[in-house]
Amino acid sequence: MRCIETCREDFPALHQTVTGGHPLVYLDSAATSHKPRSVIEAEARFYQRDNANVHRGVHALAERATEAYEGARRAVARFIGAPDPACVIFVRGATEALNLVARSYAQPRLGPDDEIVLTPMEHHSNLVPWQMVAQATGARLRYVDLLPDGTLDLPSYERLLEGGRVRVVAFTHQSNVLGTINPVREMAERAHRAGAVVVLDGAQSVPHQPVDVERLGCDFLAFSGHKMMGPTGIGVLWGRRELLESMPPLFGGGEMIREVGLFESTYNDVPYRFEAGTPPIAQAVGLGAAVEYLESLGMERVRAHEERLVAYALERLGQMPDVRIYGPRERGGLVSFNVEGVHPHDVATILDQQGVAVRAGHHCAQPLMRWLDVAATVRASFYVYNTPEDVDALVRALEAVRAIFG
Ligand code: PLP
Repeated sequence: MRCIETCREDFPALHQTVTGGHPLVYLDSAATSHKPRSVIEAEARFYQRDNANVHRGVHALAERATEAYEGARRAVARFIGAPDPACVIFVRGATEALNLVARSYAQPRLGPDDEIVLTPMEHHSNLVPWQMVAQATGARLRYVDLLPDGTLDLPSYERLLEGGRVRVVAFTHQSNVLGTINPVREMAERAHRAGAVVVLDGAQSVPHQPVDVERLGCDFLAFSGHKMMGPTGIGVLWGRRELLESMPPLFGGGEMIREVGLFESTYNDVPYRFEAGTPPIAQAVGLGAAVEYLESLGMERVRAHEERLVAYALERLGQMPDVRIYGPRERGGLVSFNVEGVHPHDVATILDQQGVAVRAGHHCAQPLMRWLDVAATVRASFYVYNTPEDVDALVRALEAVRAIFG
């Protein structure tokens, strides 16, 4: 087991000074995480030693590259508790994974009598693909209500399902703005009783807490490698085998076929049917190394570390009279807030001048911003390499905001 308290040493990018010579305090991991040396080296090693295309060659490098790529698939399956690695499809990221389910699973099945249930806390990547499906099929989008603290109003979810028309329920496991952790298992059981499939956006949960698809009971799970210490350009769609096998491919090309004729073709098995063309091989290898790194920390310990950090951040920020915090007490490792009378972009700029990296904006959740009745928020998000001292640095930098704006 690797020690969380000392793991910061493993992340080269964190050890630098930035604006004004301040040491970097990175509080933007919900946007993208930093990478440990083992991930950077695994990707470099692949290019230095094993680089070849996968699945098509008999030479030594092609075999090594194929084994590395398929090994990464097995590692990802193990990490999310999926018994069958063939149900792990490598895509570009959570966005592509969600589009793939919407287009290939939902669109051919849905019609004007059907409903898709979403929540107002979704990232645009779990909203827009469903809007496209609704426009193409005539299906109706319905939304679960939010309670004032930013958790889901489960009785309103019940009522939507009672209508008997819901075919798909798609929601985030953990909100990228409020930090809300949704009760997936309970919601999935309820959806299944109503005959709907459950699409879970795990972009903010898979990197930060134990996720087991069997225990959660979802039917699809989407997530991105770059938010969980892996490279950019790789993500995962996991799905139940019988559902994946019933889905047509979204992209045509090499790898995804069994037999190609001049006028029609037959398709390869799952997962290759959904991986047209040369896949992100080195990125998959990097993601496999990220999974191993996270396993060496232990996901229960990752979650416990972030719980402590976020509790401390809520306590410190809660003591600042002009800071307004959004979201529930029980949450994932991030805090969205605003400083009264100061635009969030100004807050983020002044924090940056002190080396504190946060994000300001709508966080790709414009409907949620409208619900909060704000144009934007500032978001500080944590990961294993953050410390209570990082929270102290954030608070000190916010005091400077107050000093500048009076
Ligand atoms: N879903 C959530 C909750 C997210 O936070 C994000 C990214 O911020 C995404 C989906 C989309 O991830 P990507 O941009 O890596 O495809």
